[in-house]
Order: sequence, then C-alpha cells, then structure tokens
Amino acid sequence: MYIRDTIAAVSTPPGNGGIGIIRISGPQAAEVGHIIFRPIHDGGLVSHRFSFGTVCDGVSGTPIDEAMAVFMRAPRSYTREDVLELHCHGGWLIVEKVLALALSCGVRLADPGEFTRRAFLNGRIDLIQAEAVMDIIASNSEAALQLAQQEREGSLSMHLGEVREQLLRALSRVEAYIDFPEDDLGETDVSNIVAAVGVASDMVSSLLSTYDDGRVLRDGVSVLIVGKPNAGKSSLLNRLLDEERAIVTHFPGTTRDIIEETVNFGGLAVRLLDTAGIRHTEDFVEQTGISRTLAKIPQADLVLAVFDSSRKFDQEDQMILDAVGGSRTIAVYNKTDLHQQLLMPGPQNFIATVNIAAITGDGLETLINTVREQALKSPIPDSRDFIVLSRARHRDSLALAEKCLDRIAQNISDGNLELLALDLREALFAIGAVTGQTTTDEVLDQIFSSFCIGK
Ligand code: GDP
Repeated sequence: MYIRDTIAAVSTPPGNGGIGIIRISGPQAAEVGHIIFRPIHDGGLVSHRFSFGTVCDGVSGTPIDEAMAVFMRAPRSYTREDVLELHCHGGWLIVEKVLALALSCGVRLADPGEFTRRAFLNGRIDLIQAEAVMDIIASNSEAALQLAQQEREGSLSMHLGEVREQLLRALSRVEAYIDFPEDDLGETDVSNIVAAVGVASDMVSSLLSTYDDGRVLRDGVSVLIVGKPNAGKSSLLNRLLDEERAIVTHFPGTTRDIIEETVNFGGLAVRLLDTAGIRHTEDFVEQTGISRTLAKIPQADLVLAVFDSSRKFDQEDQMILDAVGGSRTIAVYNKTDLHQQLLMPGPQNFIATVNIAAITGDGLETLINTVREQALKSPIPDSRDFIVLSRARHRDSLALAEKCLDRIAQNISDGNLELLALDLREALFAIGAVTGQTTTDEVLDQIFSSFCIGK
C-alpha cells in the first residue's frame, strides 16, 4: 500500500565523506526546507535550483551546518513527489543531526529502497528499471554496469512491451468471439491469433535463451583453480591478480583453505577460487581443505585444472582428472619454461587446453581469453542495444509465459475460446509480473527491501 506521507533518509553511504546528502520526499518536503534551511539569498527555494545557505534548528534557530539545498517540485523529481535534498558536510554526526532535524518536522524515516519504490508506484519507472537502479549500484564490472544501464533506460521493458502488444491483439480477437458466441472463429482470425502468439512466443524464447550469458554478465563467473600440490595454482592466481595474495612456497600443500578474489577479465567479473592441492594425505587440516575443494568443483562455472608439465603424469594427476570429470574444465599446462615431461593418459574431456608458465606470465593472455570465451555462449556485444535476461525472477516469469504460449499453440485448433483467453491472460500476467504491472505486494516488498536506505 502507498501512503502519501513524507519520508527522509541519508542517501550517501554511512561513514565520513566530503558531502552527505539527506533526501526528503513527499508533500511536506517544501515545508521541511522552509523550517530547517535558511538560504543566504532572499526568495526561498526555487525548484531545480541549488541554493547556498545554513541548516538550522527549526525551533531555536541555531545554525547546524553550511549546506546546499535543492528543491525539486513534483512531478520533475526522482520519486515524482516534491523532493528536497540537503547537501551538507559529510561527517556521520552532522549528517545524522540534519536527518534528525528533518524528522523533527514530522516526517518519517524511509524504508530501504522506498524512494525508488515511490518512483515505481508513481509510474516514473517500471519494476525492471527499479531493479536496474539497484544493479547499477552493485555493479562490479563493465559488463554488469552496461547491462544495468540498458535496463534502466528501458530496453528490456520496451521489448516486453512489444510481446504484450502481440498478446493483447490476440486476446482482443478471442474476446470478441466470446462476446458473440453465435460466430465461429474464422480462418483469418485463427491465423492472425496464431501469428501474434507465434511472434510473442519467439520473442520470449529468444529472451530466455540469453539468460545464461546475462547471469554471467551481471554476476560474473566463478572459476575454481584445482591441481596437485606444487602444480603452480597459487603462482597462477597471483599472476592473475597481479599481487601476492596466496602464499607461494616450494613446500607442497600450503594453500589449505579456499582463497577467493574477484578480477576483471576484459570487462567481465571473474571470481577466482584457489584451492588446496588435491593429493592423498594423512594431515587432517589438509584433508579438510581437500574435501572443501572437491565439494566446490560441481558448483563452479568453470574449473582450471593446473598440471605441472615439467613432471611425469602420476597418481596425483589422475586424482585431479577423476575429480574434475563432468565439470566444464580448462586444462592448464603450467611450467612450460622447463623441460616438458607430462604425457596425459589418452584423450580427455576438457573444453580447452592452454599452455602457460605462471612464473613468467607466458600464455596468461590466452588463458584469460579462453576463460572469457568459455564463460559466455556469445561474445560480449559492443553495441549498447543488446537485450539479455539476467535475473532469475525475470527468467522464472518468462518461463511461465512461454509454457502458456506453448499450450495456446497446441490447443488453438480445438477452438475452445474460453481456454484460449485464459492462457493468453495468464501469459500476459506472467509478463506483467516482470515489468511490475501484476507483481504482488509480497514480491515488491522482497525486491525493495534488498535496496539500501536512502535509495
Ligand atoms: P601450488 O601448490 O599449486 O599453489 O603451487 P605454487 O604456486 O606454490 O608453486 C609451486 C612451486 O612451483 C613454486 O616454487 C613456484 O615458484 C613454482 N612454479 C610455479 N609456476 C611455475 C612456472 O611456470 N615455472 C617454473 N619454473 N616454476 C613455477
């Protein structure tokens, strides 16, 4: 439910910074400005103009901080309500004081994501765009940011709008016949409905096929580094990180826990996990590390199996092969700077193989490109107009729509108009759940509660 009261929150991150921004949205925003802000120039706050002045205690008139204030008259604001922003000094105490002053004027502290929720409820943005705002804030790679910006600009929303158009067209024809039951569905109408449903269905299916890549672009890809002790896993990780994060020694078995770091491979976020070397051991701590590694293998998007190519194939290498069987594994033959002795026992099921020397950095670029290629079904497009699905919520709703559309395609020849209308409405409902037209309050609560306060 949307109560049109006035909300306030600190919109800058917690802690100390150069500037702290307190945002106030709702019908009392102008009044709060009037009570606690004194502009140095006469004439009060003018909409969409910054004013320099002082934040003061409304009752005693005591100056609290020097600040800039901007008032944005509805509907030309983030929430489409009256909005006041006070830009004061960014110390946590001063920011809290200014917020307390605003609250003392009778406004309430905003819930997490409530400003964006109001922007959604007031129709400024749809739900996809609201989620994109959150993604922009959370983006940790170029690819994720580009995707989020596109969704905020409405590319996915427009695409789904076209799907909706097709389905509404089909539904209006079906409903016309339900209203005039004496007419049978004519052949042209059937073919028009089939065509509209076909177009919608193709659009939904091709969107669904982009989900795996979309998820990787948004969340990044997890890459697990495995290998026997001393194969060079930590050296490889350090090279990739370009810093000394994991301990590199010449004693086997030093990386006993899993080390996780996120790196950027040409705009793609890659979560690298360096693991304990896999081998037979009596050492309990090491055994625990190895069990953890083995448990992680099936969860990783990609596995880098590192082999020491300067040594003969042995039992421990065989353990690696056994452990990674069934996973999407890139074989990494390390230590190519040394005399080569490794001979694999027959053909293996690797998705790619790369030769490297972690110690010199040779082959690293090829490895990085191979990871990028294998992480995505299609290369990252350069253009800003690619549309992909990246959220499980969107995928689940569209999968539901796809099922309805499949049912319609199968049943249309039966001529059961009521059933046809039901399935069309259900498909429209599922698409509306993505854009927010038919999303339940529970789902909205869930989405917006994961925002930060002040957004
Ligand atoms: P891990 O146990 O698999 O993590 O292996 P480390 O990264 O700790 O490396 C084990 C030893 O192999 C260290 O002495 C490294 O300096 C050495 N090493 C790693 N990569 C290479 C390489 O490409 N060439 C050579 N010659 N030595 C390497």
